[in-house]
Amino acid sequence: MKSNSLGFTKLPYGGDWNPEQWDPSVWKEDVALFKQAGIDLLSINIFSWTLNQPDEKSWNFSWLDDVIALLKKNKMRVCLGTSTAAHPAWMASKYPDILRVDFQGRKRKYGDRHNSCPSSPAYRKFAPQMAGKLAERYKNEEAIALWHVSNEFGGECYCENCEKRFREWLKKRYGSIESLNTAWNTRFWSQSYTAWDQIVAPNQLTVHWETTSTSHQSLVLDYTRFNSENLLDCYKLERDAIKTIIPEAIVTTNFMSSYRPLNYRDWATEMDIIAWDNYPFPEHQPSYTAMMHALIRSLKQGEPFMLMEQTPSQTNWQPYNQLKRPGVMRLMSYQAVAQGADAVMFFQMRRSRGACEKFHGAVIEHSGRSDTRVFLEVADLGKELQDLKNSFMGATMPAEIGLWFEWESRWAVENSMGPSCALDYVAETYKYYRPFNEMGYMIDLIGPDTNLSQYKLILAPLLYMIHPGVAEKLSAFVEQGGTLVTGFMSGVADVNDRVFPGGAPGPLKEILGLWSEEIDALAPEHSNSIVFYDEAGPLKGEYQCNLLFDLVRVETAEEVAVYGDDFYLGRAVVTRNSFGKGKAWYVASSPDNTFMKDFACHLAAQSGVKALLKNLPLGIEVSRRTSEKGEEFYFILNHKETQVKLELDDLELQNLLTGQRHSGALKILPKDVVIGRKLTGLGTE
Ligand SMILES: [Zn+2]
Repeated sequence: MKSNSLGFTKLPYGGDWNPEQWDPSVWKEDVALFKQAGIDLLSINIFSWTLNQPDEKSWNFSWLDDVIALLKKNKMRVCLGTSTAAHPAWMASKYPDILRVDFQGRKRKYGDRHNSCPSSPAYRKFAPQMAGKLAERYKNEEAIALWHVSNEFGGECYCENCEKRFREWLKKRYGSIESLNTAWNTRFWSQSYTAWDQIVAPNQLTVHWETTSTSHQSLVLDYTRFNSENLLDCYKLERDAIKTIIPEAIVTTNFMSSYRPLNYRDWATEMDIIAWDNYPFPEHQPSYTAMMHALIRSLKQGEPFMLMEQTPSQTNWQPYNQLKRPGVMRLMSYQAVAQGADAVMFFQMRRSRGACEKFHGAVIEHSGRSDTRVFLEVADLGKELQDLKNSFMGATMPAEIGLWFEWESRWAVENSMGPSCALDYVAETYKYYRPFNEMGYMIDLIGPDTNLSQYKLILAPLLYMIHPGVAEKLSAFVEQGGTLVTGFMSGVADVNDRVFPGGAPGPLKEILGLWSEEIDALAPEHSNSIVFYDEAGPLKGEYQCNLLFDLVRVETAEEVAVYGDDFYLGRAVVTRNSFGKGKAWYVASSPDNTFMKDFACHLAAQSGVKALLKNLPLGIEVSRRTSEKGEEFYFILNHKETQVKLELDDLELQNLLTGQRHSGALKILPKDVVIGRKLTGLGTE
């Protein structure tokens, strides 16, 4: 499914609009303001289940008819929600099975959103019924560009219905209770089961001490898998209800960056187009946000995605809700586009008068005015997006570097009791992403199902769990000349979180030419050093490392650097193994950012990957989208507070925003962006 199949001739621009909270006289004001701001796509009907269905037997869509008609009259299109993201109070009273049981084992009462049990017979009946009613009513409605199922699916439930479904899921996975006992290593602490109905949902009443510390990792891992699939199943029920009536409907839901409980790699296969909500914290570096976009883009083989939500100004749910400084909303919108988005959308269009989102930023603030800073910035961007037309819509981002990001390894390694409670999968992954992004390399985030043929360099920190076929795939990749980097806590366990016989790095032992003997864990404030003696290139002298200190025994690998301290002083901390035509590196500890930057330069040179621009100044982000016809579009973003002069090497660009031609050096203003079509020159490739 291509994003331009939504039928837009420019990037869709808009966001979540909640007319159900307002009198129709306000709708008209809103639409006039939308027009002024170049808004053309509105997500509606996200949280209006009770309004649409005031009781079990009545439906009321007349308000929605009016809203859609008003938008249509003003040439705006609709991303139609199914309204099922929060269930009605009457439903909870009449069908209490819809209420979740929480992690502490407490049965919830009515209230809040994301509150329906995914195994509830009532929810599984009423939610798809609503989606079907909407599809029936609006099947011929041309204003609908796409369908938006529920909203930000998430959370877990531990009720008896979930337990029952979990047991069915386990029966399918393991076939017999004996196989389950073996897979889960249940003779430990006498946890063996003799019948399926003895298996209970793992929460704080059972095997959990804290959110991620548990005495029974295999059970928790499977419950996490089950919960992700069970929620996905609820998405599919609604999607199928829509598609039964409108087979050609484009259906999606909105993801939340690297949200831990849901395996978005599985979810992506069920989406017609990927959409996500980008809410970075003020302390996040631009490269962190870029990584999240890259993760989302990679979920569907690099197809363009939708930025479904971002705040135009501030959130309400962070501890300190910093305003986006002037120019930052525009810059972040273009960052999404630079990383593969083909839609720019906000939450929310008009700020609520009541409840928790009344302090969440909006395009139209409480003042209702069109001369506010935020509105003017939104309107300026709207005008630019109109002027850009469809120049690069549909263009993709072929990369030479693949960075491993896999939910199951993350669940397993973070659930692990020991060796360190400070292990953070996303943080360790980001450590590898950051220097490459900051130096202008294109990077995909890849997983066990990714075709590796386009990559020259694969970075796989914390490759803890080895799925069947992955070791063979990586082995073939290196053998054919690829460069692989992995390190501590990799090749540890199989898909059931059982350690491989012979220990780590399990099936990666031959590729890496070493084995792990022991692993030391120190509090994060303690460090050791990584000492290089005679490696050619940028890796020189000493660097710091912390967190975990893997003590490896090298076999065929070459010791490239050693620990500089402790009883393992002089033992290998960075190794490289020649395997076939390629190289496999092992980094036995968690290095500092200085190391990561020099290491990235070294790896790039050795593996032959090219940056889009040489000597990219820190704070400048560059990426490239390539159209089907081979046209190249460069996005250069200045995240700094100061103007930057940038060498374009031999690149010549036609600036799509200003019409100027750029070659040689380019001056880029603070928080500004250059979107340039490549004219001549060979780039750096
Ligand atoms: Zn449940």
